[in-house]
Amino acid sequence: MRAIVSACLLGAPVRYDGGSKLNAAVAELASKLEVIRVCPEGSSGLPVPRPPAEQRDGRVWLQDGTDVTLQFEHGADIAFEAARRSGAPLAVLKAKSPSCGVHLIYDGTYTGRVIKGEGVLARRLEKEGICVVTEKTVESCKPSVEHPVAIVLGSGLGHLGQLVKPVRRIDYHDIEGFPQSARPIAGHSFEATVGSIDDVPVIVYPGRIHLYQGYSAAEVTSLVRHAFRLGCRDIIFACATGAVPGNAHKGLGIITDQINLTGRNPLADWDELRDVDTPFVDMSTAYSPYLRTIARGVADDLGIAVEEGVLAGVLGPSFETPAEVAALGKLGVSYTGMSTVNEVIMARALGMNVLGLTLAANDAGAADTTHETVLAEAKKHGSDFESLVRGVLHLL
Ligand code: SF4
Repeated sequence: MRAIVSACLLGAPVRYDGGSKLNAAVAELASKLEVIRVCPEGSSGLPVPRPPAEQRDGRVWLQDGTDVTLQFEHGADIAFEAARRSGAPLAVLKAKSPSCGVHLIYDGTYTGRVIKGEGVLARRLEKEGICVVTEKTVESCKPSVEHPVAIVLGSGLGHLGQLVKPVRRIDYHDIEGFPQSARPIAGHSFEATVGSIDDVPVIVYPGRIHLYQGYSAAEVTSLVRHAFRLGCRDIIFACATGAVPGNAHKGLGIITDQINLTGRNPLADWDELRDVDTPFVDMSTAYSPYLRTIARGVADDLGIAVEEGVLAGVLGPSFETPAEVAALGKLGVSYTGMSTVNEVIMARALGMNVLGLTLAANDAGAADTTHETVLAEAKKHGSDFESLVRGVLHLL
């Protein structure tokens, strides 16, 4: 996988003051990728050292009052061309810079204050459809023993749990909020494993409960709150779904967004919100663009066929009618399933980074779909699914 990276994050002495500051998390990520280093300010021809630059009123100024907008645009042209030629889907750029900043940049007062806005290069890369993040995103997604990656597995995908080098096991019935009476359906198991996969700290939950079994949205999201309390910041949800004909095919998919058609929302249960800052949660990027891009890159590198699309979460347990499938297709839905959407809402309310993977095990609305055919299809794609998850863990 290729990625564009701000040269200064890798310790290159390209800063305006001639200094350099290596970012350890970005350097570690870069060591696993094919990296295209860019420094638009360096390419601009401006001397180093020189006064710092900031953006104000859409123009770039040095602290001594010199307008250097044209130089910054020239440097961005050079860096953008290198980025475009490389075909890299991801850019990790230095936060707040007037060239590289993403969503927040220094405001032109030289006081360290930031305002909403894009760096000159960042804006161009985003327009090109490249996923642009800062070092903060890389740092926040980096797992550790204190911050393991949570992996919640759906029907037929629980075998991934066998890859875990276990440290301890947790019976779901010992998890706060998990219903004591719940028993696993076929293809699920109710014992979480804390440990590591390929030396990456993880907690794997190899099964879940569903709204259609009569449980509340608060109960089905109890595993998410448990993961959060154990320190997890990244959470990978995997679920079996139906592929909506015309929008997706059977096989593996990366979930890009969701439509919650279950009629439930875990944030409407005010008793379960003690870890949540506000129930009015921003869902504009519910599925982390960074994690999605990493997953796509891993799939492409490994030659694993993966599609991408929107998940519609329905209550179930009956499968969809032809009319419902047609309606979902018109709504732009690729996958339909009976889990995940409420869990993703809870995870976002807790500030967790979400990756959603799905195995479309049947065509939505197909007459011959049974729980057994879903499990059989899951088995067929099991090894690709495992490789995809391991590849993602390797890059975090
Ligand atoms: S923030 Fe961007 S333009 Fe500035 S020194 Fe770093 S790489 Fe160069």
